[in-house]
Amino acid sequence: MSDDWFEETLYPGVHSRLRIDRRLYQGDSEHQRLELFENDRFGRVLTLNGVVQTTEADEFIYHEMLTHVPLLAHARPREVMVIGGGDGGMIEEVLKHRAVGRVTLVEIDAGVIAFSKKYLGSICGDAFDDPRTNIVIADGLVHAETTDDRYDVIIVDSTDPIGPGEALFSDRFYRACNRCLAPGGVMVTQNGVPFMQPAELAKSVSAMRALFADAGCYLAAVPSYMGGSMAFGWATDDGALRATGLSVLQSRFDSASIETRYYTPAVHQAAFALPRFIQDLVG
Ligand code: SAM
Repeated sequence: MSDDWFEETLYPGVHSRLRIDRRLYQGDSEHQRLELFENDRFGRVLTLNGVVQTTEADEFIYHEMLTHVPLLAHARPREVMVIGGGDGGMIEEVLKHRAVGRVTLVEIDAGVIAFSKKYLGSICGDAFDDPRTNIVIADGLVHAETTDDRYDVIIVDSTDPIGPGEALFSDRFYRACNRCLAPGGVMVTQNGVPFMQPAELAKSVSAMRALFADAGCYLAAVPSYMGGSMAFGWATDDGALRATGLSVLQSRFDSASIETRYYTPAVHQAAFALPRFIQDLVG
């Protein structure tokens, strides 16, 4: 019997495939098509609307870099908001910071949370049930525009700018996040693979630059997001955050005593060193 393959067609003219060694689920939630399968190399793979969201094998890279870079650059992150993040991997990483008093997860699709609790325990652990976790089922754009809460760190862990995720790449959304960011706070965003999605990154950083004193991006290569390093948007009014020194990062990392498999303070600093073609993209 021939192999069964998942084929991602996110990019015109470029398809990537993963062999389906064990199909676990296929179905529609209120907002999206969910698929879950096992692949010998990547473990469990979650896809939404035919796009890889997270895999057991390499989720640590993405979640560690979108969590520990902003939280350790910020002196005292007490209130954190994760927009999207329905697989629970981001809040699981945020909750490792004992100084964080509350993490608010704003997820548009309750079905993704229910599904992840059932099938992706290796990624979310019991983060959804942690007493510090506050789950809000809503469009991240609407929540950011209307909440009275203020956040020290906002992590936008969204799908790509298609379907419900499109709103989370708009100027209106970045304005809303600027509104609910506490003084000295920082917003970071999942901003695609610049080699494959250059216009997406350029547009996001340009929109952030119009709203924040310091806007740019940093990088990490996540194998299951094909095409080279992934970019993470960075936006804050405190320009000093990005330049947090290695010894300060190291002492904060040591006192947080968090186990990581990718993040180190030196990797944190190096992640902001951009290759020329990405520097040219973000200006
Ligand atoms: N790591 C993945 C990536 O880089 O593409 C993202 C993972 S996470 C599963 C993405 C989540 O964003 C999904 O659970 C999806 O339901 C959620 N989402 C999409 N649009 C949203 C919106 N407008 N407001 C809140 N959540 C949204």
